[in-house]
Amino acid sequence: MADPQSRLDQMLAKLKTRDFRITPQRLAILKILASSDGHPSVERIYEQVKENFATTSLATIYKTVILLKQLNEVLELGFPDGSNRYDGNKPYPHPHIICIKCQRITDPDLGSMSQLAVEAAQKTGYQIVDHRLDFFGICPKCQGKE
Ligand SMILES: [Zn+2]
Ligand SMILES: [Zn+2]
Repeated sequence: MADPQSRLDQMLAKLKTRDFRITPQRLAILKILASSDGHPSVERIYEQVKENFATTSLATIYKTVILLKQLNEVLELGFPDGSNRYDGNKPYPHPHIICIKCQRITDPDLGSMSQLAVEAAQKTGYQIVDHRLDFFGICPKCQGKE
């Protein structure tokens, strides 16, 4: 995991080039995305920001997330049920492990990933531009509930 503070600084530096006004609410959104604990959805970010800024709108969260996506400062993980999840801590392709019970998403630290991309390119002749690898399972916390 990248240091959330340095990720926040990187996001702020990029946003400065876009005349994006950093309000306290927007800063709260950026902070949540910089650590991306559990890979939050827009709704989850909204709930968290609302605790301190009651007047925050869902539209503000969406706008901020969309801008960060355009700037390649957040990775979007789409799912068939329509719930997108976000990782601003590691805004580049990397494998994920997803709990099928609580929907928590974690980044497993896998050393073989870059090797896998090289192998895929070699075996197919493709130029790899992106990749996505999801593991599904039951997290240790949910295992304990059974
Ligand atoms: Zn779980
Ligand atoms: Zn991730």
